[in-house]
Amino acid sequence: TSFAHFGFDEQLMHQIRKSEYTQPTPIQCQGVPIALSGRDMIGIAKTGSGKTAAFIWPILVHIMDQKELEPGEGPIAIIVCPTRELCQQIHAECKRFGKAYSLRSVAVYGGGSMWEQAKALQEGAEIVVCTPGRLIDHVKKKATSLQRVTYLVFDEADRMFDMGFEYQVRSIASHVRPDRQTLLFSATFRKKIERLARDILVDPIRVVQ
Ligand code: AMP
Repeated sequence: TSFAHFGFDEQLMHQIRKSEYTQPTPIQCQGVPIALSGRDMIGIAKTGSGKTAAFIWPILVHIMDQKELEPGEGPIAIIVCPTRELCQQIHAECKRFGKAYSLRSVAVYGGGSMWEQAKALQEGAEIVVCTPGRLIDHVKKKATSLQRVTYLVFDEADRMFDMGFEYQVRSIASHVRPDRQTLLFSATFRKKIERLARDILVDPIRVVQ
């Protein structure tokens, strides 16, 4: 597979060329077409596999398709991950590739300023990258709304479970409309993750790195 097989438009291809990636990684080759088809997906992949771009590129395509259909406030895509560092990394990739369409991304994580994050959320963003507890705090305070979310990604789900975020992860999933698309990434596929997948994904395709 080459990047041309994904059918991305010229703006996005331009950003990918600027990254100097020569070819898609295995998780991208398998995962991108599935995500673009609208199906739910479980990705068993580790850091370094290129999994971040594998979900960001389809998110960008989804948002550009969705934006006109669902005018209004609040993010269209949410990416939930375990740590501040990962939030910042994913947010940086969203900004880099989102530039293709002038899309806005905001990162909200525990330990950062509630006030500054709330302000950024209220200014508007199509993509929110977050740690689970902090997103819930902002929703409770009405700094943002999950109403318009149609694309939900959980990254490093096993690590979120290890850190005790299972309740928050499930709570977020239950507050996003059921006709959304959901992607779940995890380095391992233990019983607890399998159970989560069964509860929050619809007829998912499983991809192993
Ligand atoms: P990730 O597994 O998403 O954390 O990505 C690991 C690193 O690989 C990041 O620095 C990415 O920028 C980089 N990367 C992602 N996709 C590709 C690709 N197709 N070719 C080369 N590097 C890539």
